[in-house]
Parts: sequence; structure tokens; C-alpha cells
Amino acid sequence: MKTFHYYIDGRFEDGEARFDSVDPSTGEVWANMPEARTADTDRAVKAADRALNDAAWRGLTAAARGKLLYRLGDLIEQNASDLADLETQDTGKIVRETKAQIAYVAEYYRYFAGLADKIEGRVVPVDKKDMDATTHNEPIGVVAAIVPWNSQLFLSAVKIAPAIAAGCTVVLKASEEAPAPLLAFAKLVHEAGFPPGVINIITGFGAECGRVLTSHPLVARVAFTGGPETARHVVRNTADNFAHLTLELGGKSPVMVFDDADLDSAANAIIASIFAATGQSCVAGSRLLIQRGVYDDLLARIVEKAKRIRIGVPSDFATEMGPLATRQQRDKIERVVAESLEAGATLITGGAVPQDMPQKGNYYLPTILDCRNTSASALTEELFGPVLAVSVFDDEDDAVAQANSTRFGLASGLFTRDIGRTSRMVKRIRAGIVWVNTYRVIAPSMPFGGYGDTGYGREGGVASIYDYLRTKSVWIYT
Ligand code: NAD
Repeated sequence: MKTFHYYIDGRFEDGEARFDSVDPSTGEVWANMPEARTADTDRAVKAADRALNDAAWRGLTAAARGKLLYRLGDLIEQNASDLADLETQDTGKIVRETKAQIAYVAEYYRYFAGLADKIEGRVVPVDKKDMDATTHNEPIGVVAAIVPWNSQLFLSAVKIAPAIAAGCTVVLKASEEAPAPLLAFAKLVHEAGFPPGVINIITGFGAECGRVLTSHPLVARVAFTGGPETARHVVRNTADNFAHLTLELGGKSPVMVFDDADLDSAANAIIASIFAATGQSCVAGSRLLIQRGVYDDLLARIVEKAKRIRIGVPSDFATEMGPLATRQQRDKIERVVAESLEAGATLITGGAVPQDMPQKGNYYLPTILDCRNTSASALTEELFGPVLAVSVFDDEDDAVAQANSTRFGLASGLFTRDIGRTSRMVKRIRAGIVWVNTYRVIAPSMPFGGYGDTGYGREGGVASIYDYLRTKSVWIYT
């Protein structure tokens, strides 16, 4: 069994308690993890606070901070294969996806490395005699970064990289469900040469470690990714310390296909939008809305492709879909599919556990539900699994009404060849991302975030670095 450590103040530690991590493809314990409770969480925040005020960090130039981030990006690239293997083992995400994703994790570190020395203040004209008025941008302080178990290396990069570029220090809490990739990443942080305490990486359970971290009086900003219910706790926790907040929460993203779309390319994108990462992605295109004229044609193409998806063990490069990360997750999916069928949905394919895979693993078949004219919960509830809820629409107004009908507003997809319609629809869709004739494209320079219950704030892009800065107004009487 593998044993992991966490990283506080430049040292690798055993943890004040320990817990086991289960391999989702076999249901067997494969590793033992350190658990931060109140004392270690507090120590990690205090280490970050000391580092913030220490000359070893505060005294570095912005360009030097950028160089450390570039070095971290290079180390991620050099160790990509090992990091991806660990993520596959701990989360069950298939190896061809974890390997592809690591490449752009390094790109996020490099993007923000390049921004470190482009943070400028301003000379501000004021109607006062003999007065110089300027603004300075200063690091906001200690940042608490909290991530869920899916895509942890990526979700932590969009928090750590801008925070460090801005001169902040960080305590990152890896998810208790699958902390291995981030605990291994801590070794790269150490090797890159950050001063002790600048980046601390712990793991522990939300109710104690997460609560202590987000309400800690020395924390100035919380960057949170997770579910809306957890986020409500986090918002309440920050009533104690008035920490600034970014919330990246769930989604129920609609993909709309109009009669004039290229159906072949739409079908390929739809399959990837929902079944990649076994549907465990915040931007999963989990609601498919098809215009009536092409409903049968498109649905037939998608069903045919879904049935051909190769389910297998996550470590095999030939596998196209692996298990869900936890048994709890699969139980929820089984419940919502059953409820949706009871509410009148029709099962088109899937809806069961594959019999030819290890039964202690958390496998579930790619599932498509025809939810036309129903109020099936598969149409409204975030499932975080390989379940596509399909419905029909008649015109643009109908598509917009259905697309905007959930409380979430993260991503959306639009398939049409009509430029006028594209322009009208883009303006009316209530979502932080609109992908037109494509899906799931990201870049470090593009903001990422949502509307409504998906939370607030944006990660990625130049503007996101200002979340980690605060403005000081300086008046000098000359
Ligand atoms: P979760 O909300 O259960 O847990 C997320 C993190 O919050 C974990 O590290 C957990 O330990 C911590 N936590 C739990 N209770 C806490 C508390 N009281 N105080 C502070 N921290 C606490 O989410 P999950 O099940 O691990 O992940 C799935 C959710 O994440 C889905 O809703 C998904 O849509 C969302 N997600 C969003 C994005 C995005 O960018 N919008 C990306 C990925 C995942």
C-alpha cells in the first residue's frame, strides 16, 4: 500500500491522523493518506502568513516569482506521466484523459508566470494642488484554495498560479476523495524552490479541515470549487473572516442543436461533452435539446456512438470510459435515473451497471434518457455521471426558455450554421460559457465561471489576477 504525506512550511509531514483511499476501479484500498484536522490546518495557515511577511518571499521581484512559476510548469511537464497515473489510480479517470489534461495544466502555470511582472499601478489625476495620487496593487494575503476530486491538478492551477504571480501565499486543501495527485504535486513545488510556507498542500475532510481553513482569521481570500451545498457552508464560514470569495460550482449545461447544424460533428461533440470523464465534469453537456426536425436523426446517431463506447479499466489506453469516482456517486445516479423513468422518461440506452466489469468497481453504462414532455429530475439535477437527458424544442424562444430553465449557468453548447441565430442566441443564453459548433475548449487566457447557482467570480484570463490583489491609494503632498 502506498503512503502519502502533506506539505506544510516546506516540510513533508505524516499528518495528525490518517485515512485510506479506495481505487474506484476495484473497490480496494490502495493508499493511506494524511488527514489535517484543526491543529495542522491552523499550522498551515500560520506558515502561509509567516511566509507572506518574510523577506524570502516579499523581497522577491515580480519577475523572480514568475520564474518560479515557469520552473513549476516545466516540472509538471517532466513529471506528467507519473502525475497522470496517480490521478487515474485515485479518481478512476481514464489515463488517456489524465495524460491529455496535464499538458495544459503546465500551460496555466506558464500563462500566469508571464503575468507576474505585468501588474501595474496607476498615476491618478486629482483636482488637488501639490498632490501626487497613485494606486499600488498589493498581494491580497493568504489564499485558501479548495478543490473537489475531479481535475484537481487543473482546478488548483487556476488558483495557485494567479495567487503566486500576485505575490500571495497559499494553503491548498486537496479533496479527501482522491488527494494523491496533489500530494505528489507538492514534491514539485518543493523542487521548484519556493520559500517554505509559500505553497502549503494539505488534505482532510470538509467538516473540519475545510471549515477551519475557510473561516481562519488569517485567510484573506477563498478560491472554492465544489458543489453548491458545500459552497453555502463556505459562504457562512467566511462571515467569520470576511475573506473574498470565488465560487466555481455545479452545472447542468444545455447543448442545443438546430435543424441547420452539421449533425455529424454535433454528434461527436455531444458524445464527448457528456461521456468524457464518465460525465464527472462541471461543464458536462448533460442536457441535449434538439430542434424537432432533426430529433430522430440526431438521436439515432448519438445512441449508436454511445453504444460503441469502450468501457474498461482506467489504466488501459484503449479504454474510452472508466468508473465513477465513488460508490456514493453511482448510487445517486441509479436513484435519479429510476426517479426519471418513474416521471415518464424513456430509457434509450444504458441505465445499468455493466456486468462484464469488476462488480466492486463503480462502473455505469453510458445512458441516454428521452425526457420529452416530462419534468424528470435528470433534466434539472446535476448528476455528475454518464447520463444524457434529451428533450425537444421548436424555435429559438423555446430553446432559450429550456436552456435557461435550471438554477445553474456554467456552460452551454450551440450547434447551428446560421450566423444571425448564433449572435441572437449567444446574447440570450444565461451561462458563463457559450461554445458554438464546438464544446469543452479552454485556454488560460479565457475566463471560466458561471451564473446563478454556479457561483460567482471567474478563473483564467488576465482579469483573474486582480482577484488576488488589493488596491492601495497613496496620496503624497509634495
Ligand atoms: P464537494 O462540494 O463535496 O467538495 C469540494 C471540496 O469542498 C472538497 O475538498 C471538500 O472536502 C470541501 N468541503 C466540504 N465541506 C466543506 C466545508 N464545510 N467547508 C469547506 N470546505 C468543505 O464537491 P465534490 O463532490 O468533491 O465535487 C463535485 C462538485 O464540484 C460538483 O458540483 C461539480 O460541478 C463541482 N465542480 C465545479 C467546477 C467548476 O469549475 N465550476 C469544476 C469541477 C467540479
